Amino acid sequence: MDENDRHEPTALPERPKKDADVTEPWINREKPKPEKAPKKPKAPKAAKEPKPPPVKKEKTPNVPAAPIDPESMFKEGFLKSVYNEKSSEKVVTRFPPEPNGFLHIGHSKAIAINFGFARYHNGVCYLRFDDTNPEAEEERYFTAIEDMIQWLGFTPYKVTYSSDNFDKLYDLAEFLIKKDGAYVCHCTDTEIKLQKGGEKGAAGPRYACPHRDRPPEESLKEFRAMKDGKYKPREAFLRMKQDLTDGNPQMWDLAAYRILEKPHHRTGDKWRIYPTYDFTHCLCDSFEDISHSLCTTEFQLSRVSYEWLCDVVEVYKPMQREYGRLNLTGTVLSKRKLLKLVEDRHVRGWDDPRLYTLIALRRRGIPPGAILSFVNELGVSTALTNIQIVRFEQSIRRYLEQTVPRLMLLLDPIAVIIDNLPDDYVEDIELPFSPKDPSFGNHTVPFTKTVYIDRTDFREVDSKDFFRLAPGKSVGLLKVPFPIKATSFEKDEATGLVTAVHAQYEKPEDESTAFKKPKTYIQWVGSSQAHSSPIKAEVRIFNPLFRSENPDAAEGGYLNDINPNSEEIYPNAMIETGLGEIKQRAPWPEEEGEKGVKKGEAGWETVRFQGLRVGYFCMDRDSEGEKVVLNRIVSLKEDSGKGS
Ligand SMILES: [Zn+2]
Repeated sequence: MDENDRHEPTALPERPKKDADVTEPWINREKPKPEKAPKKPKAPKAAKEPKPPPVKKEKTPNVPAAPIDPESMFKEGFLKSVYNEKSSEKVVTRFPPEPNGFLHIGHSKAIAINFGFARYHNGVCYLRFDDTNPEAEEERYFTAIEDMIQWLGFTPYKVTYSSDNFDKLYDLAEFLIKKDGAYVCHCTDTEIKLQKGGEKGAAGPRYACPHRDRPPEESLKEFRAMKDGKYKPREAFLRMKQDLTDGNPQMWDLAAYRILEKPHHRTGDKWRIYPTYDFTHCLCDSFEDISHSLCTTEFQLSRVSYEWLCDVVEVYKPMQREYGRLNLTGTVLSKRKLLKLVEDRHVRGWDDPRLYTLIALRRRGIPPGAILSFVNELGVSTALTNIQIVRFEQSIRRYLEQTVPRLMLLLDPIAVIIDNLPDDYVEDIELPFSPKDPSFGNHTVPFTKTVYIDRTDFREVDSKDFFRLAPGKSVGLLKVPFPIKATSFEKDEATGLVTAVHAQYEKPEDESTAFKKPKTYIQWVGSSQAHSSPIKAEVRIFNPLFRSENPDAAEGGYLNDINPNSEEIYPNAMIETGLGEIKQRAPWPEEEGEKGVKKGEAGWETVRFQGLRVGYFCMDRDSEGEKVVLNRIVSLKEDSGKGS
């Protein structure tokens, strides 16, 4: 389905091309400022990055919306009317990726539509690898594509390959030639361009090539000669004899077969000629009895040739209908561009959490259910859907808000020594994993003489508009019965960083005495060897990989648009001990392809939680044994400054 990277052996139009680089009006919208993260300790004073001018915040509510009916996209609108057009038959659909790259966010819509439509109507959906171009295929893509479909919670009825049908397709090609519906042509690319009216946009006269009228017997002989190796690539190909007077370029004698001297990963060196997309796709749909052939609007013009070929070779004709593709702005999705990012080490690999391949989204911790929910929220119509990353993240955030537990996490901890508590003081503090849903359960964490808080929650000099910890000021520690008040602090003169804060626990002599409730509660982590608290972690905060909404429009290309601060690492982060239980109980949430995984055996990325007041996180696959690496899935709020 993805056309971004298809390298054609000839200049003949085969699959319609998608133009990934098209300039659209939305590109002028600026990205919201990335979430401000606390300053890293000892950060060398680097040259300041030019900051984009302040942008107006696009206010998006941070409250979870009412849950969306996960099947609404099939019950209304485009997909309902497509079903109604042909509601009597058993629903059979297919998802037909080319095995030449990793699936990305755009494909999640095609998967949700094709597999979801079949499931909703009690039908079946094939996974058909469109493997007609042996030059681009690699084994790892087949496996990765199947994995991603399973992860999104779908099971193909059967896994098939276009190449399974090479014999059948060849026979139909001969049949077509005998019917005088195709001919072997030896024209060059330039000649063909001229026959089609000249350069792009030019409306020169269209005319037939000299080979068009050769007798079918001659074409048949030449076609067999093509198969048997008489010709080199480009010296001959089979063209369908369509209708040059038709206004639709898909009717201008498309190529049906071309010579490619490449072995095929399934058929080996049996074939030297391979069918084109235009010849293969509709016939494979027909062989598999597809009832509703759903594809993107890039294929709208192809519907005519699709139906033409099925009719001429006298096979069952499935119904093709087209929906608008999902496109995410502010990133790149084409395989060639992603490859460059990977090879030049701008990212950690194809699954780098800053990318929008599905494997990257999985590693980043985005639950499969959240992706489906996002697709469903957008709805399906014939319009192209251009979505900004902020909107995607907003949807993910809403999903996580409802489905993952909460923990206390400190990105950049500083110690607070509570001087009026005994050295061995331990008080068990009970914390709920969810503030609203008791079914998430509770856990306890140790409150001790030394606790850690986040550096951003302490100020050396107090001010009226600051409501957290400062000398002489009190703050609440989440769920700890009484506040603490800072008395003094220690500082490393070399770095200028506060190393420890001294405080008093403001427990009244008589516990029934009223005490002043603090204005603010902050997250904290106790220090107790017996409890193995705190748990240390490396936290990776991801910001958009590109600075603009249209990286391709940047001067010098998308590589010049890379955000130098797209990954911030906090090497000394701390988490409370509740992480242990979260790990054992993962996946969070247990949905779609993550359903039914044995507890404790789910992937690291399913260990998801909200770090209170910080953001949503999951464990990264770089975690190992005691080593904890966390990825930020999304921030807590769009453009969240760390306000009081
Ligand atoms: Zn010709």
